[in-house]
Amino acid sequence: MSTRWRVLTVGAAVAVSIGALTAADYAVLREQMVHEQLEARDIRDQRVLAAMRSVPRHEFVPEEFRTYAYEDSALPIGQLQTISQPYIVALMTQLADVKQGDRVLEIGTGSGYQAAVLAELTHEVYTIEILEPLATQAEATLRRLGYDRIHGRTGDGYAGWPEAAPFDAILVTAAAPKVPRPLLEQLTVGGRLVIPVGQHEQELKVITKQPAGFAEARVIPVRFVPMKGRIEGQPE
Ligand code: SAH
Repeated sequence: MSTRWRVLTVGAAVAVSIGALTAADYAVLREQMVHEQLEARDIRDQRVLAAMRSVPRHEFVPEEFRTYAYEDSALPIGQLQTISQPYIVALMTQLADVKQGDRVLEIGTGSGYQAAVLAELTHEVYTIEILEPLATQAEATLRRLGYDRIHGRTGDGYAGWPEAAPFDAILVTAAAPKVPRPLLEQLTVGGRLVIPVGQHEQELKVITKQPAGFAEARVIPVRFVPMKGRIEGQPE
């Protein structure tokens, strides 16, 4: 084992003290993340694991946090928003059960990382971000990394993306006090809405559209930044 390897396994925080990490170093950290944080938990979908192995998460976080990109935690991305912990991104992607050719909508582009993970699974990815500076930056990052087929839009995701509906899966990456009705309406029959619901304490839910009505599964307690815009004025 080389010194370099040992330092990396101790943690990226230490690695920063020996100089900037290379793409190869990040690949080591990414593999470790997949193994220790995803496979060791309940991420079993091989396509999701492959997507998490290939998307360079460090490219989506601000320079000063780059060495922490593969840690088991959320990180700041500016505008008081955060990129979710890798495990939560993988879990939501697994729950969305995206197959090639599926149409997928994400509400809350943030850094663009979740959208890139989805783009590894299907060519039909749509994503909406309410904060203009984040939308602009995410678009630039995605383009730089070659994710040029993702459809992005700046605006309030509450209303979904009616012109591109229906969707086989919709992921909401900000917490909603209640489920936005338009998103339920924009699901195909069999389509899945993966959404953190609640205010201070939230639960990750999967709502599946059935021929008559919806089926709801509660997954785990989570903490997301609150959804903004029209939802804030909606009664409970
Ligand atoms: N999925 C992102 C992380 C999202 S953080 C990633 O992979 O990096 C939640 C994001 O949702 C924030 O960027 C926030 O600005 C955005 N957001 C909040 N309310 C929204 C709304 N109504 N419509 C669209 N985006 C919203």
